[in-house]
Amino acid sequence: MNIFTHADFDHHEQVVFGSDEASGLKAIIAIHNTRLGPALGGLRIYPYASEEDALSDVLRLSRGMTYKSALANLSLGGGKAVIIADPRRDKTPELLRALGRLVDSLGGRYITAEDSGTSEADMRVIAEETAWVSGIRQATEESGDPSPFTAHGVFIALRCAVRHRLGRDDLSGLRVAIQGVGHVGAELARRLKEAGAELVLADVNPENVDALARELDARVFSPDEILEAEVDVLAPCALGGALNEAVCERLKAKVIAGAANNQLATPESGEILHRRGILYTPDYVANAGGVIEIAFQRQKDYRRADVLAHIEGIEATLDEIFLRSQREERSPAWIADRLAEERFRD
Ligand code: NAD
Repeated sequence: MNIFTHADFDHHEQVVFGSDEASGLKAIIAIHNTRLGPALGGLRIYPYASEEDALSDVLRLSRGMTYKSALANLSLGGGKAVIIADPRRDKTPELLRALGRLVDSLGGRYITAEDSGTSEADMRVIAEETAWVSGIRQATEESGDPSPFTAHGVFIALRCAVRHRLGRDDLSGLRVAIQGVGHVGAELARRLKEAGAELVLADVNPENVDALARELDARVFSPDEILEAEVDVLAPCALGGALNEAVCERLKAKVIAGAANNQLATPESGEILHRRGILYTPDYVANAGGVIEIAFQRQKDYRRADVLAHIEGIEATLDEIFLRSQREERSPAWIADRLAEERFRD
C-alpha cells in the first residue's frame, strides 16, 4: 500500500497507523493540515472491506475538514480518524480507550469528535484517556446534537444564494424542494415554512416525510422526482453524490443549497450547473454549522448565542464566493476551494 503516491494523498502532514493487540484496534489517523490550528475531525468506525478503503476514506475526509474549517473561520486544521471495525459488534470500551491513547500520543495535533459509528457516549470513554476530544455536551447549556446548528447554517446559506441568484430577500412564496427530511432536512423545512416558502419534500422513508408534510402543509414527491421538480430552489439533504452530470443537465431549480456532504458527484457536475446559470452553494460552506458548534464545545464558556452568531458568518463567506465566481467566471465550487487554499496555505 503506497502513501505518498496514493491517489487521495494531498501533502498530508502526518498519517498514523495505530494498533492494539488486546482490544483489536486497527486505526488510521490522518492530519491533513494544521496551518490554521489543530486538526479537528470525527472518528468513523466502519467495517471497511480493505485497509486500502480505510486509507482512502481517512485521506479524503481529513482533507475535506481542512477546507471546511478554513471557510468556517475556525482556528482549526483538518484531520480524521477511522477504526476498521463493525461498530455494532466490535465497539468496546477497551477499543475506544486504545484509540484515546493513540489520539493522546499526538499531543493535541489532532482533536477527535463523533462521526458515523460513534456517539457522544463513545467520546466520553475516549476522554478517559485524552483531553483532545470534542462533541461532549456541557452541563451548562443544551447542545450535543449538531443538526439544528447545521440547519441554521443551511437556512442562512440558502437565503444568501436566493438573494444573489433571484435578487430577493423575502422567501415568501419561494418554491423549495428538499431531498431527505432527516435531522437536518426536517429542521430546514420548518425554518423555510416559517419564512413563507412553499415546500415539496421527498424521503426514501415514507414515515419521515408523510408526517412532516402534514405538519407543514407540503407536497410529497417520490425520491426519483424531487431532483427535477419545478421549483426555485433544490436543497439536497440526503446522501452525497445526488448531483450527477445527468441530473445537473436536467434539473429545473435556479439555486441549489443543502446540507448533504459531497453533493457534486464529479467536478464536472459543478461546471454544468455553472454553465446552465444554476447557482450552486458549495456544500461544505453551507453545512459548516455542525463543525462550528463542535469547535465551540471545546470552549469553557460555551454559549449557544455565540455559536449562532459565528454560524451567521457563513453569509459573508458566501457573498465573497458568489461575487468572485461572477467576476472570475468560475463555478462557486471551484472558487470555494481556491479561497480555502488561500487561507490555509498562504
Ligand atoms: P439523516 O440520516 O438524519 O437524514 C437523511 C435523510 O435522507 C433520511 O431521512 C433518509 O431516509 C433520507 N434519504 C436517504 N437517501 C435518500 C434519497 N435517495 N432520496 C430521498 N431521501 C433519502 O442525516 P442528517 O443528519 O439529516 O444529514 C443529512 C446530510 O447532511 C448527510 O449527507 C450528512 O452527511 C450531512 N451533514 C449533516 C450534518 C449534521 O449536523 N447532521 C452536518 C454536516 C453535514
